[in-house]
Amino acid sequence: MSRKIRMGMVGGGQGSAIGKVHRMAAALDGQLELVCGAFSSDPRRSKASCAELYLPADRVYDSYAEMFERERRRPEGDRMDFVVIVTPNHLHYAPAAAALKAGFHVMCDKPMTFSLAEARKLKTLVDRTGLLFGLTHNYTGYPMVKEARELARGGKLGAIRKIVVEYPQGWLHELIEATGQKQAAWRTDPARSGAAGCMGDIGTHAENLAEYITGLRIDSLCAELTTFVKGRKLDDDGNVLIRYQGGARGILHASQIAIDEENGLNIRVWGEKGGLQWRQEEPNTLILKRPDGPRQLIRSGQGYLSRRARRACRLPAGHPEGFIEAFANLYRNYAEALRARLAGRKPDPLALDFPTVDDGVRGMAFIEAVVKSARAGAKWVKMAE
Ligand code: NAD
Repeated sequence: MSRKIRMGMVGGGQGSAIGKVHRMAAALDGQLELVCGAFSSDPRRSKASCAELYLPADRVYDSYAEMFERERRRPEGDRMDFVVIVTPNHLHYAPAAAALKAGFHVMCDKPMTFSLAEARKLKTLVDRTGLLFGLTHNYTGYPMVKEARELARGGKLGAIRKIVVEYPQGWLHELIEATGQKQAAWRTDPARSGAAGCMGDIGTHAENLAEYITGLRIDSLCAELTTFVKGRKLDDDGNVLIRYQGGARGILHASQIAIDEENGLNIRVWGEKGGLQWRQEEPNTLILKRPDGPRQLIRSGQGYLSRRARRACRLPAGHPEGFIEAFANLYRNYAEALRARLAGRKPDPLALDFPTVDDGVRGMAFIEAVVKSARAGAKWVKMAE
């Protein structure tokens, strides 16, 4: 199969945040092309986005329902293969379910749905249709995160004892939603964001990163959620104690009122034999800590890396690779998995290295457990499987 894979988009129109990042990441390897979209809840904005994206007018739709219906009727050699969903959280399940029912594969941004109940329904639908579902927990796409995974899961640290993961940001330290700032407005609105604010928005990235690297599943947790900014309806800060299955212990904190912090995602993991640390704002370096010698700096682009990490590098060592490249690694794997499926062959097993509907269900179970624990006054709560 030598053609490009055809992508449609729901959301991501003029003035939106992450849609354009998806378009850049999807385009990076030249395997995928955007062919259509329903880019906004406002049809006029959707049309205006169409002009900016140089799409033909008849491939820009007023709604995702119209898009799936009309794309389905196009000839097979022309219609979209999959859709990416980049709308606010309350509008993930409906378009994802509609796309799957119409026979389209799906890529969706996180958190996967509005609630755990929706996430479970979506998982049932993915299983029933057998279609490919990807979830953009994009931090798993960094080469040094993949190397950390190889080290932690490969036994280099020994049995994992402790995970400390944090995601501080500062952009919501004031009530900017009251000024009409669009991204803040829906994230702080329980009807559009979900049961949690900060913990759903970025706490889920931290939860997913810890699991991706270590392979450990959360057994139970004890959480405190705080709303510091007066007038805000959802948490803007949260602290979680975690017990992992198998006995490891964890601390996860996420905050959006941490002034001066940008995207300070930072993870430290310690086992019986060593430890590691990776910081998103310094993504090309992984620190390996040993009890019997100085710390080691492991660097992106180097020939000594594992196959999984090398495969995720695009440039020689020393040329910084960052957010877009890591995001693109998810798309590259998703595209290879989809291409193999369309061609009726088995994919490279390493191409199956992208977050799926199962990660999405666990993300929603995490949010639900955190909110339940916090509402009960920081009681220990079992996380649903
Ligand atoms: P945004 O508000 O900037 O953009 C949302 C877009 O969805 C807008 O273009 C809006 O018009 C469109 N939209 C709303 N209703 C629609 C409908 N019915 N049909 C079609 N389009 C519709 O939001 P954002 O910050 O880009 O976030 C979007 C999603 O991406 C959220 O789920 C968020 O959690 C996630 N996100 C992920 C990352 C990441 O790093 N993976 C980063 C930012 C946002």
